[in-house]
Amino acid sequence: MWDDRDPDFAEIRAAFLEAVDEFHRRHGYSRNFRRLAAELGVTVKEGEVNKAFTTPEGERVILIDPREPRARLAFTGLHELAHHLFQMALDGELDGYLRSLFFKNRALATQAEENLCFEAAARLMMPGHLLEASLQAHGYGPLAVFHLARHSGASHQAALRRVVQEHETDVHAVLVAPNGKVLYSLAHGPRRGRNSVGSGFVLPRAHPLHPQGFPSEGTVTFEDRVPFKRSSAVWRSKVVAAREAASGRVLAFYLDRLPRASPDQPGLFP
Ligand SMILES: [Zn+2]
Repeated sequence: MWDDRDPDFAEIRAAFLEAVDEFHRRHGYSRNFRRLAAELGVTVKEGEVNKAFTTPEGERVILIDPREPRARLAFTGLHELAHHLFQMALDGELDGYLRSLFFKNRALATQAEENLCFEAAARLMMPGHLLEASLQAHGYGPLAVFHLARHSGASHQAALRRVVQEHETDVHAVLVAPNGKVLYSLAHGPRRGRNSVGSGFVLPRAHPLHPQGFPSEGTVTFEDRVPFKRSSAVWRSKVVAAREAASGRVLAFYLDRLPRASPDQPGLFP
């Protein structure tokens, strides 16, 4: 594939994700890791830890800890499957390229593969056509995340990463539990990506993102400062927020502009 030189990390990543998408398409976009593993010739066993490995006899195995919550297990199974997909991609060539790229540091190579397998698992859980359907239905924003999670079975956190990472757009996203606790946040893009909001803290009852008293339907837009956990920095911006009735959670996107002009995308301040 690369005749004249070794690929860099971006090229390894692109080739791997393409191989994952192609594998998934051939297998009907199933999200059932046990079924996908069977079709790939990978044995699934129960174990004390989650792990993917190949025996000295060449048998490919996934160990799954059955004590994990069911929803997380579905994602973990896909993640472990992704390790086998990575090692099999281009007949093992991609794995070899990654090792030689980080030849001085095995830990870095392992971490790079780990990150790639998280990304691959997210695509197996939420394939491109599901993501597109959610974006078509609601445009870029919190409603697309709730839609994607509902239709894929992924967590709100995983669906949020999938929607946000697919776009270059600078955004701070904040997911709030019904009691006002920030469950998760994500900072993405060249400007906002370096300033994490944090999580695990509780918003005051009067905060505009507090789910108590938050409108129960549709998207709300306003301006406010980003609620950083550990910083008093004042970063005011536009906010697009919505509450999901089923979970009672509020998800907010702090952003300066939407990803791209699209006729389906409602304006920030219509
Ligand atoms: Zn892993």
